[in-house]
Amino acid sequence: MRLSSYFLPVLKENPSEAQIVSHRLMLRAGMVRQNAAGIYSWLPLGHRVLKKIEQIVREEQDNAGAQEMLMPTIQSAELWQKSGRYEDYGKEMLRITDRHERPLLYGPTNEEMLTDIVANEWKSYRDLPKILYHIQWKFRDEVRPRFGVMRGREFLMKDAYSFDLDQAAARRSYNRMFVAYLRTYARMGLKAIPMQADTGPIGGDLSHEFIVLAETGESGVFCDKALIERDVLGEGVDYNADLQPIVDSWTSPYAATDEKHDTARFDALPQERQVAARGIEVGHIFYFGTKYSKPMGAVVSGPGGEQITLEMGSYGIGVSRLVGAIIEASHDDNGIIWPMSVAPFHVGLINLKVGDADCDKASDDLYGKLKAAGLDVLLDDRDERAGAKFATMDLIGLPWQVTVGPRGLKSGVVEIKNRKTGEKEELSVEAALNKLSAAKV
Ligand code: ATP
Ligand code: MG
Repeated sequence: MRLSSYFLPVLKENPSEAQIVSHRLMLRAGMVRQNAAGIYSWLPLGHRVLKKIEQIVREEQDNAGAQEMLMPTIQSAELWQKSGRYEDYGKEMLRITDRHERPLLYGPTNEEMLTDIVANEWKSYRDLPKILYHIQWKFRDEVRPRFGVMRGREFLMKDAYSFDLDQAAARRSYNRMFVAYLRTYARMGLKAIPMQADTGPIGGDLSHEFIVLAETGESGVFCDKALIERDVLGEGVDYNADLQPIVDSWTSPYAATDEKHDTARFDALPQERQVAARGIEVGHIFYFGTKYSKPMGAVVSGPGGEQITLEMGSYGIGVSRLVGAIIEASHDDNGIIWPMSVAPFHVGLINLKVGDADCDKASDDLYGKLKAAGLDVLLDDRDERAGAKFATMDLIGLPWQVTVGPRGLKSGVVEIKNRKTGEKEELSVEAALNKLSAAKV
């Protein structure tokens, strides 16, 4: 992509409406614009990040054996009357009436809809087990939408639903999702700690929130420092193996959100390991048994003809909230610092002297070669001062910057800068190309 023609409305000044750093930087870097309270448009740069996060979420759901589908945003009120949640959900639910005066709503979540779908399709125990998911926009009329995409009213969520024949199998599905979540956040360069959580209006008794520690987080949390110091989960999970030991290793050290906080257990920890902090909830998983399958009639017949009411769990990830959470976890005074895996472009290529034949040629040449090596490249080909170009690149946070200037070209080198460490290095075009290709994820 060439910056001269890219829609990237960066702001020099800090927008006054933004209270936290991620919101400020998303506005300044031209990633989003607000259209109404808690409702945002994703401009091209922000959209690229959103899609990369979505893709990591998708791949890890698929790896865990979940199957992607897509349900609508608009739902019929009838489904929610069946489960009893139509009244309970209260003002957070956006209620709509169509031209025939039929009550509809913009879905805040999909337990009812999917349970209804499977109740109509599955008749036999042979149809189970299954985990289904979709990545879809939700609407919740939050009392206080704030902090940009962190607490929006319209937001993108991955929600998965597991269906099993008995509790032990449901627990295995829960463990699969638990481990998939550890992998998902690790791939985004995030440390998200699973913490015991309240089940809230969804109900049930087994639940974890995945929390990224941050001072600006809205949740109060308590945990054993051992969990913070622990390595994130590496590659190569075998989802057919018994995952309980992995789950236990993450859930046995103390970690809880304030609703579930057990002061006695926390106080029993050595003082230096007691962490009381704030965090951002980037995911929430629940096991809730037959809470929805019973009223929605999700029942199949077992091997002996007996009726089995399905055991269910649901598993959410805040895809759009993650964009903000990653920035909260990774930025400096000059701007965002994207991890390679979610960066909108891997490389920012700066042509220092646009109009100079050698610089133009070398930049275009390198741009083509970097792209051919599979890297996403943003070429700054604007006729601008060098200082403004560097400031823009630092602000939008691409992991690597490559600068092509007349002086370097005379000695056959370009300058490479690592956005995170700030380290700079002069390399031949060939060496630069090799280095960046190797850094690709
Ligand atoms: P919160 O306590 O933050 O309101 P929740 O418990 O209502 O979250 P869930 O219903 O479990 O959230 O939704 C799954 C995930 O969707 C959450 O873990 C969070 O990451 C994300 N999410 C929920 N509400 C919002 C929102 N208003 N804006 C952006 N993301 C959200
Ligand atoms: Mg909520």
